Amino acid sequence: MQQDAIIIGGGFSGLSAAYILARARRHVTIVDSGTPRNRFAAHSHGVLGHDGKSGSEILAEARAQLLAYPTVTFIEGEVDSASGAINDFHVSITGGGRIAARRLLLASGIEDRLPDIPGLKERWGKTVLHCPYCHGYEIGGGPIGVLAMHPMSAHQAAVVADWGDVTLFTNGMPEPDEATLALLEQRGVSLQPGTVSVIETGACDMQRVRLENGRTFDVKALFVAADLYIRGTIAEKLGCAMEDSPAGKILTTDTVKATSVPGVYAAGDIARAFGNITLVSADGVIAGLGTHQSLMFDTAHS
Ligand SMILES: Cc1cc2nc3c(=O)[nH]c(=O)nc-3n(C[C@H](O)[C@H](O)[C@H](O)COP(=O)(O)OP(=O)(O)OC[C@H]3O[C@@H](n4cnc5c(N)ncnc54)[C@H](O)[C@@H]3O)c2cc1C
Repeated sequence: MQQDAIIIGGGFSGLSAAYILARARRHVTIVDSGTPRNRFAAHSHGVLGHDGKSGSEILAEARAQLLAYPTVTFIEGEVDSASGAINDFHVSITGGGRIAARRLLLASGIEDRLPDIPGLKERWGKTVLHCPYCHGYEIGGGPIGVLAMHPMSAHQAAVVADWGDVTLFTNGMPEPDEATLALLEQRGVSLQPGTVSVIETGACDMQRVRLENGRTFDVKALFVAADLYIRGTIAEKLGCAMEDSPAGKILTTDTVKATSVPGVYAAGDIARAFGNITLVSADGVIAGLGTHQSLMFDTAHS
C-alpha cells in the first residue's frame, strides 16, 4: 500500500515529524537503523521533562507512544536508496523490502568525525565531549581541555571557560590573532601549543593529554568540535540542494522544511547548523506540518 509519507530516520526529529502525521491520521512508515548521534553518551541533558535520561530511553518511550496510532508503521532497518518523484517515491531497505510513498522526509542525521588521535574515539560522549550546554554541568568545574580543530575553537574555549579552568590545545592550528588572544586572556584560558599525540587515563580518573614534546596535562574532560558530515548519500542522490554552515554541509530547506526537491522534506541535524534534542524535535514538528499540508494543498502536484 502506498504510504502518505516515509520518514528515513527514527531519531528525535523523525519521530517528532511522525507524531504530526500520525495525529492527522496519515499513513506513515518510519525506517530506522537504530544509531542516533548521541548513542555514545549515557545521559541526555537539557531536554524538558527528561533531564538525565538516556537518549535510547527517551526514543523508546516515544516509539511506544507513536505505535499506538494505527496508521504508523515502524521498520527497524536501513534505507539503502530512495528514488522517484513527488506522489511516487520508492524506498528500498537493505536486505530486501520496498515501500512507496507520496512524500519523503529525511531525518537521518549527521555523523561526527573525530581527528585520528589515539584514545579520543573511545572516550567520545563520555569524557571527550561536543557541547558544554549538554554535558558541561556534570564535569563540576576543575581542569578542562579544548582541542583546537578550526579557527572557531578559540571561541569554543572562551565559552567552555564558564564550566572550569580551560586549556586550549592548539594541536598544530595557527596561533589566534591579537583580539582572540585578548579574549582568551580575559576568559582565563591558557594556550598550549604543540601537537597532541595521545589521550590516556591520568591520575584520579582524569584524562591525560600527552603532547608530542612529552608534556602531559590532566583534565576532567576534553571538548572537541568534530567535523560534521551528512550520513549516507540518499539526499545527494535525490538531488537535494545543500549549503555550507559553520559546522559543515547541511540540506537547504525553506520555512516548512521542504528541500529543493518537490515532495522531499528534511528535519533535524541533517538540515540545521547546530542541533540538540529540543531543536531537532521542533524541526520534526515543522517538517511534519509541511509534509501534511503539502499532501492537502499542493495542487500543482496532486
Ligand atoms: C555525544 C553526543 C551527546 C549529545 N548529548 C546531547 C544532550 O545531552 N542533549 C541534547 O539535547 N542533545 C545532545 N546531543 C545532540 C543530539 O544527539 C542531536 O542533535 C540529535 O540526536 C539529532 O537528532 P536527529 O533526529 O537529527 O538525528 P539522530 O538522533 O542522529 O537520528 C538519526 C536516525 O536516523 C537513522 N538513520 C541514519 N541513516 C539511515 C538510513 N539510511 N536508513 C534508516 N535509518 C537511518 C539513525 O540510525 C538514527 O537513529 C548530543 C550529541 C552527541 C554527538
